[in-house]
Amino acid sequence: MGLDRVMAESTSTAVPVRVAVLGGLGEIGLNLMVIECAGRAILVDCGVMFPDEPLLGSGLLIPDFSWLESRRFEIDAIVLTHAHEDHIGALPYLLRVVSAPIYGTAVTLAFVRRRIAESNVSDPDLRAIAPRRSFSAGPFTIEPIRVTHSTPDSIALAIRTPAGTIVHTGDFKIDDSPVDGQIFDRERFAELGREGVALLLSDSTNVERAGRSGSESSLKPILREIMSRAQGRFFLSAFSSHLHRIRQVTEVARECGRRVVPLGRRMAESVRLGSETGQLGFAPGMFLEPGEAEFMTQRNLAYLASGSQGEPLSALARVAAGAHPRVAVEPGDVVVLSSRFIPGNEKTIGGVINGLYKLGAEVYYESVAPVHVSGHASRDELEEMIALVRPRSFVPIHGEYRHLSRHLALAIEAGVPERNCFLLEDGDTLILDGVGARRGRVVEAGRVIIEGGEEGDPALVGERRVLAREGAITAVVVVSAKTGKLLADPYLISRGVVSGNGTSEHIRRAREELAARLLQYRGPFTAGDIALKEEITRAVRRYFSDEIDKRPVVIPVVVEV
Ligand SMILES: [Zn+2]
Repeated sequence: MGLDRVMAESTSTAVPVRVAVLGGLGEIGLNLMVIECAGRAILVDCGVMFPDEPLLGSGLLIPDFSWLESRRFEIDAIVLTHAHEDHIGALPYLLRVVSAPIYGTAVTLAFVRRRIAESNVSDPDLRAIAPRRSFSAGPFTIEPIRVTHSTPDSIALAIRTPAGTIVHTGDFKIDDSPVDGQIFDRERFAELGREGVALLLSDSTNVERAGRSGSESSLKPILREIMSRAQGRFFLSAFSSHLHRIRQVTEVARECGRRVVPLGRRMAESVRLGSETGQLGFAPGMFLEPGEAEFMTQRNLAYLASGSQGEPLSALARVAAGAHPRVAVEPGDVVVLSSRFIPGNEKTIGGVINGLYKLGAEVYYESVAPVHVSGHASRDELEEMIALVRPRSFVPIHGEYRHLSRHLALAIEAGVPERNCFLLEDGDTLILDGVGARRGRVVEAGRVIIEGGEEGDPALVGERRVLAREGAITAVVVVSAKTGKLLADPYLISRGVVSGNGTSEHIRRAREELAARLLQYRGPFTAGDIALKEEITRAVRRYFSDEIDKRPVVIPVVVEV
């Protein structure tokens, strides 16, 4: 349905506003939302997702921008809620198809600058914004509101539109004693609630957890206790953008007479950005380079390592494998994995923990000690958000289907009328018309694989799955360039299909069958003959399918000599 028809059908005189979800509803990550009115639009966030698909290797996923490319509206702003990769990571790719000013708080923009510097985008138009300071973009007036989360300077957005106010929470929790003293702006949410909010879009990540998530600052005494008992070096691994945690570890290290050594490129970068933006206000010399620390007394060192999810090339994984060029863990060392284990990563992280134990370290992680506090609101906080904002309509965001589903039920319980609660998924749209909200038509949305910084072929993962499950056979056929005749029996090379490569009975019989089939093939045989290659593929695949129920990838190679 076009917006014109929506307007014609509407019982309200307000210009309708369409909210379109291009990512983040149905998965954790890939967050991207479009808010559109009368041919103008703003985008909120633009994140990546790290796939839990081992066959993707180091690839990552970004939202599909096809709908934005084919758009019939102007984009006036890209507004970012905070510095996490699942909210800003896809920006370099978005900027290839959309050009618009990018709005974010100081810390968010510092991380965006780094993200963009790593890509080929030149001169993005970055505009700093601050809580309670409204700015306008097209038909919208946008007010950032301070929230607390696991990266500093995080904001929610109150977006005033011709069809009413939309509140987008970003990622948040309600921390009443945050590390940087910047408290969650309850008052502003309550004022908006009294004014009237047409739609609340709220973070669903932790809806499965009862109660409240607790304050980040509650970690400090625990870290102090563990660090002061450590005989050797202290290591802590956390997300590198978690500047509050880095700050707390550094404060505790200072108290314990240790100096802090960032390990890994990302962590070193974050410490630098944190110092530049005033989030880590420590005396020069508090942080050391790994090379400077090598000859210092071990008891005087605290390492901050990237790789809390066990990423194979990360500093922590190398240390755990005994393969770090500068740091070797020894008995007496203590390692704290201060993060949630993202589902899908447990095995890899388990391997890292095993490695650390083998080297003699003592290891603390969330399931054995309270060494992590979540940055997302648990149920009581989510309920509080709904009670503050008192929205007419509600859409749960940031979560897998089960999170969205539970959050929807929570909103209904909290008093939002059921008919005004919408469970949207990627590609869904919602129309606000000044009176109420209703579903609009579905738009194109999806995921795109990025490998080595470039867009990958969507068929890639499917192909790798087949390779992993079925294996591959290379079939080499040698022909004479002069006569166009077969010169020798075909040769088969197996990878992951049968054991005893070359000596296998199956390989021998498959060769015989292929040779027999080639005898019936009407030549002449040439390297460019596509029908010949198809014939080879069919013959080899049929043999393995009939005999051992496998359908390997067959790579036909015709060599002319
Ligand atoms: Zn976040």
